[in-house]
Amino acid sequence: MKKILVTGGTGYIGSHTSVELLNAGYTVVIADNLSNSSIDVVDRIEEIAGKKISFHKVELCNRTEVDLLFEQEKDIDAVIHFAAKLQVNQSVQEPLMYYENNLFAQINILQSMLKFGVKHFVFSSSCTVYGNPDTLPVTETAQVKKAESPYGNTKQMGEEILEHSCKTKPIEAISLRYFNPVGAHESGLIGEVQHGVPHHLVPYITETAFGKRPFLNIFGSDYKTPDGTCVRDYIHVVDVATAHIAAVEQLLHGLNKKKYEIFNIGTGIGYSVLNMVNAFAKATGINIPYQLSPRRAGDVEAVYADTKKALSELKWKARYTVEDMLCSAWNWEQKQRGIIN
Ligand code: UDP
Repeated sequence: MKKILVTGGTGYIGSHTSVELLNAGYTVVIADNLSNSSIDVVDRIEEIAGKKISFHKVELCNRTEVDLLFEQEKDIDAVIHFAAKLQVNQSVQEPLMYYENNLFAQINILQSMLKFGVKHFVFSSSCTVYGNPDTLPVTETAQVKKAESPYGNTKQMGEEILEHSCKTKPIEAISLRYFNPVGAHESGLIGEVQHGVPHHLVPYITETAFGKRPFLNIFGSDYKTPDGTCVRDYIHVVDVATAHIAAVEQLLHGLNKKKYEIFNIGTGIGYSVLNMVNAFAKATGINIPYQLSPRRAGDVEAVYADTKKALSELKWKARYTVEDMLCSAWNWEQKQRGIIN
């Protein structure tokens, strides 16, 4: 059984990926500092998969702690690195905290990998690297635009660190550029945990459906899109999770064409904000009250993925529909609120 280290494994995408890894027969080691997640998630992952994981509370920014982790967990075959701070607005206020946290952690892990002879690394990147793309759907070869926030820049710099490290060191890596991960596991046991007012669209929709928010503000209705609202490529978090299994397997089986590869992880379909509101009504029967509001600073008009490379090389494609995504998000919201068991 191959052993995979999942950093940030109690977080949103990390927890879903840990479940899929266990389901696929891997041994899972999670390293997380629990700064934005709860230890209960470990039990929930184990409950869903019916298997145990090995959990370590680790500050990945601390080189000694990372070395100790690799020493204790011998024979790690690959690392999937999710652990990062990810609030765009906070990163603007606290740029040094973001650069220190996100980059030091990644560098420490790569250093320990070299020291302990671990070769394979999968990185959480983001479609934010494309900014406002010149052509749609956006391919992996599209120009990387100057990052709008320190958070976005840590993703771009993270990719560059990998590109350069793979050139001269015994490391092979894949960056997965996620589009908009949404939804939750069908069990309703794991999902995206909200602190305060949701920044993202789907949690805002489910909190409005629950009655916690009176209405949804739709940020911008004068974009050059079919209905004037922004277009995104929403993807079920379980599909994002299975993309990581495909990436790890490509590296473990030596099927990667180059030492460093990049893949878009999306459905390839663009949905506007209004499309999402309508899809939620179709999926759940609940109409979301909304108000058309001014544009939100920093939003790009439209972005959706060209998914051909992931299909042809990773043999991976998204399986879930937008209704599946929204039903699972609503199920998670209701379970958290104790409306359903
Ligand atoms: N959005 C919105 N109202 C909200 C939250 C988001 O209209 O309360 C819009 C936002 O302007 C963007 C889309 O929904 O066009 C997706 O936003 P989200 O924050 O979920 O993802 P990202 O900005 O990372 O693409």
